[in-house]
Order: sequence, then C-alpha cells, then structure tokens
Amino acid sequence: MNNLRVNGGRLWSNLMDTARFGGTEAGGVRRLTLSEEDRKVRAWLEARALAAGCTIARDRLGNMFLRREGRRTDLTPIAMGSHLDTQPTGGKFDGILGVLAGLEVIETLNDAGIKTEHPLMLVNWTNEEGARFAPAMLCSGAWAGVFSEDYVRARQDSAGTSFGSALAGIDAAGDQPVGAQDFAAMFELHIEQGPVLEREELTIGVVTGVQGMRWYDLEITGRAAHAGSTPMDARADALLAAAGLITGASRLAKELGGYATVGELTIAEPSRNVVPGAVRLTFDLRHGDDAGLEAMEQGLQTLISGLAPDLSAQLQQIWSSPPVHFDADCLASIREASASHGHKDMISGAGHDAAYVARKVPTAMIFVPCAGGLSHNPAESATVEDCSTGAQVLLDSVLIHDRRLTARAAE
Ligand SMILES: [Zn+2]
Repeated sequence: MNNLRVNGGRLWSNLMDTARFGGTEAGGVRRLTLSEEDRKVRAWLEARALAAGCTIARDRLGNMFLRREGRRTDLTPIAMGSHLDTQPTGGKFDGILGVLAGLEVIETLNDAGIKTEHPLMLVNWTNEEGARFAPAMLCSGAWAGVFSEDYVRARQDSAGTSFGSALAGIDAAGDQPVGAQDFAAMFELHIEQGPVLEREELTIGVVTGVQGMRWYDLEITGRAAHAGSTPMDARADALLAAAGLITGASRLAKELGGYATVGELTIAEPSRNVVPGAVRLTFDLRHGDDAGLEAMEQGLQTLISGLAPDLSAQLQQIWSSPPVHFDADCLASIREASASHGHKDMISGAGHDAAYVARKVPTAMIFVPCAGGLSHNPAESATVEDCSTGAQVLLDSVLIHDRRLTARAAE
C-alpha cells in the first residue's frame, strides 16, 4: 500500500461550496436534473477538471466524461463517478460525494505527480434521481443500452417539458454517441442511505450488489356483511385476510433475509359497521439474490392459497428488477483498500447508476455512513472523516485495481 493521502479538508470544502448550487433555507439542496442549478454545478466541475489537466467529453444525453491520461494511452480508462442531481428536498451528499471524491482522487494524484497506468475517467451521470424525469438512473441506463436515446429525450417533467428540450436549455449535451465511452472498471462511492454502518460503527461498506425487486398487486374478495349480526365464524373478511398476509410476508422476509413491504391498502366501499368485502393491496418484495426473491414469492403464494375457501385472491406481478452482483475483482480491490478501516460487505437497498453500469463493465460500490441513515432530506449528513475515508478508499481501490489489471495483462 502507498502512503498517498487524499486531502479531506479540500474534499469537504468542495462539498460545502457546491451545496450553494440549489442550496435551500432548510440547509439542503434542490438541484433537479438539467435545471439552472445543475448547469452551474456542471460548469463548476468542468472548470475544476480542466484546471486539473483533464480533457472533457459529453455524450448526447449530457453524461460527462472527464479524463486524466495514464502512462498507457492504449488502455481503457478506470472510471469513478456518480451523479450531481438531487431530489427536490435533497441533501449535500447523495450523488455529489461520489463525483467530488473522484475529483479529489485526481487532484491528489496531481499533487503527488503520480500517473496511473490506465487513464482515469470521472463520470457525472445525468438524471440519476428520476425526480424530474422518471424513471431513475435514466442516462446510465441509456449508456448501458437499457433505454434508447429517443426514449430518454421524450421523457417529460410535471410541467410537460421534455428531457430533450431541458438538455438543450442548459446546453448540456455533447457530441459523443451514448454508450461510446468504455471503461476497464467503474467505482462509485456513495452515502449508504441506510443505518447499518452507523449502527455497527463501521466506516466503509463494500457493496457486493444491489437488491432485486418484485412488485405485485393483490385483490382479495370476500363477502361484505353486517358487523353486528354476522357471527365471527360466518365471515369472509377480506381485510382480516389481508392482515394475515401482511404479517406472513413480514415473517417470510425476516426468515429469508429479504424485505417485504405493503405500502398501499384500500378497502372497497369502507364503512365502520360493514365487514370488508374486498380489499386491494400492494407488495414490494426485495432480496439480494434471485433464489431468495423466488422463495419469498413462493411463500406469499402459499399463504394466499391457504386462505379460507370463501375468500378469493389473485397475486399479479406488475414489475421486477433483477438483483445486481458486482464484479469480484473490483470488490477484491475495494476490500484490500479497506483493510485498515472498519468495513463490512453489504448489499445496496437503493438503486444506483452503478447497477446499470455493471451490465456493461466490471463495477462495484463503496458506501460511507450517513447520520441516522437519512437521505433525500435536507438533514442528510455525513462527517468530514467518513467522507475523507471514503475518498481514500476510492483512491486506493483505483490504484490497486490499476496494478491488478496491468499485472494481469502482462501475464
Ligand atoms: Zn444517489
């Protein structure tokens, strides 16, 4: 391991400085994608990257690629990056930490006069949040071939403005074809957005993948009846059946190490003195691997088929997203870089650009704690020390990976 140290104070002042682009009275940041605030933070980043000797390229969807040359021009770059946009009530760390930490890596290497073998590429992915233009991770998805360029351009915000015209409005598009930039690997540093690292007093999460998700609608039909004159053993209470399924799904999730959430529940024709005859509810099931997801779905199906014969219910899957497993070599580099810091392997509960990037190139993520696990909130916060350690692990991961790939190519 080298003795190279990132400048945590410089990273922190960059975090605080860029928080003025969209800074709110509540102390948070509102920097919707392709807004005037987004234009300003992009310009800030380009100016800093130019001053650091990087060349700048943008693709036709405004994804930014800031390149620091390596010793070898024939090698594909190792990428670092995340996103600069925020939720309407966002904070100072979600997304931008991963970009500014990448800038810090480049400036640290410049200060020390060190050139990596591979070129380095700092990336800002357009529209990660999905807050202005749904869906989320739109342009890393387009880069990975999940969405077409036309599909992305046609997305509309709530005011009816298309992505394409918002992109032109702040002159954020470049001339590179989407997906043309290739990486030997990508590392994304991000705040955890959950409470695990803080609770376990650890600094680094080695993120091995992103949970898979399945969404379902369920309608249960029983029999509406009088609340006073229908004996308890003569009822087909749809809500009571739903209650059993909700607690059952929760138990399944705990047993199988996944997550189960019922976030919507509606009683058809509700009335306080009528036994509910029909209810509609949603299930959101998540797990780190496909077998776990499948077991949770099967368990839920079994619970449903065990309902009393005078109740009928049909589970309908309406959307799914498969689990993502990050690259073993990238993870090995992050683990080696984390050796002297309190760290653990973990799975991301939230979606990230890295999840789409991983479909095309070897990818992994690094988490640092955020206070109370809070994000998408003005009170979102991370400490100077944790941000600095995160950037240090990013730097060391990149250096270790640079040597790993170079040594392998020489074999
Ligand atoms: Zn984010």
